Amino acid sequence: MKSSYMKRKILSKLLAKESDADHQNCLITKDVQSKSLKAALDNQGDYDWMGYFLNMSQAEVRFAANSLTDTLPTPQRLVQWKVSDFRSGSHLVNDTCQLCHKERGTLGHILGYCEVALSKEGGSRYTWRHNKILSNISQYAMEELDEKWTILNDLSQGGDGNVRNLLSSFNTAQRPDFIAVNTEEKSLIVMELTVPMETQIEHWHTTKTNKYADLVRQFEEVGYQVEFFAVEIGCRGLIPKSAVTFIRRLGSGKKRTRRFAAQLSQIAIKCSLRIFQSRSSKTWEVGS
Ligand SMILES: [Zn+2]
Repeated sequence: MKSSYMKRKILSKLLAKESDADHQNCLITKDVQSKSLKAALDNQGDYDWMGYFLNMSQAEVRFAANSLTDTLPTPQRLVQWKVSDFRSGSHLVNDTCQLCHKERGTLGHILGYCEVALSKEGGSRYTWRHNKILSNISQYAMEELDEKWTILNDLSQGGDGNVRNLLSSFNTAQRPDFIAVNTEEKSLIVMELTVPMETQIEHWHTTKTNKYADLVRQFEEVGYQVEFFAVEIGCRGLIPKSAVTFIRRLGSGKKRTRRFAAQLSQIAIKCSLRIFQSRSSKTWEVGS
């Protein structure tokens, strides 16, 4: 297992292959979010960092490294780097998002906050990424948990049924993403998934835990034993300890847990790359 120091060293090596490592390091230092990103890097779960790079194309690895250091050619960075417009020859000055034409085109906006990317008309891109990860988690849970467990999720696939089946008898409008039900032992494993920017992981962990406290209480009142997990998968591929703890709860050994965590990391990166590549395209075709 690579230490956090080693992980960063590997990342630095990748970045060194890029055109101007000093320039990029300078940006990392100046990045106002660098403190929270550093905290997210330090809070990574125990997963196979080297395996993380396997099965990924060069474009995906480059995207993973450059997105973590916020050195991708977003509208905001292009203006900051004083890149010239190839037609007029003068410096670019417009740093608004090329999709909504309203907000500043930062990496965080493009990967998580653009209202057009979020909307149905824009292809519900963030939901697509979220559901890809959720579907993989559900399938994995079906393999890992024994036959006493029924897997429900908030999707039309990848489980034994929909969470609504269970929630219909409760007084709630909430719909957690995943519930594993063990009727025999009257136990529930409830999981809510968020795929945020790494700097927002802590915020979402607290928000989602508070949001579902009442539903957990309702389950307990009718005699269920409940384990609740707020799980975050960083949209740039970082997997916090909370996610690893959840995967371990599904019954996996250490090795399988690390492999699956790396798999989720790759899915997040592949989906985010797709979202990034479509940052100025109104059309969005749902991929495989
Ligand atoms: Zn936008």
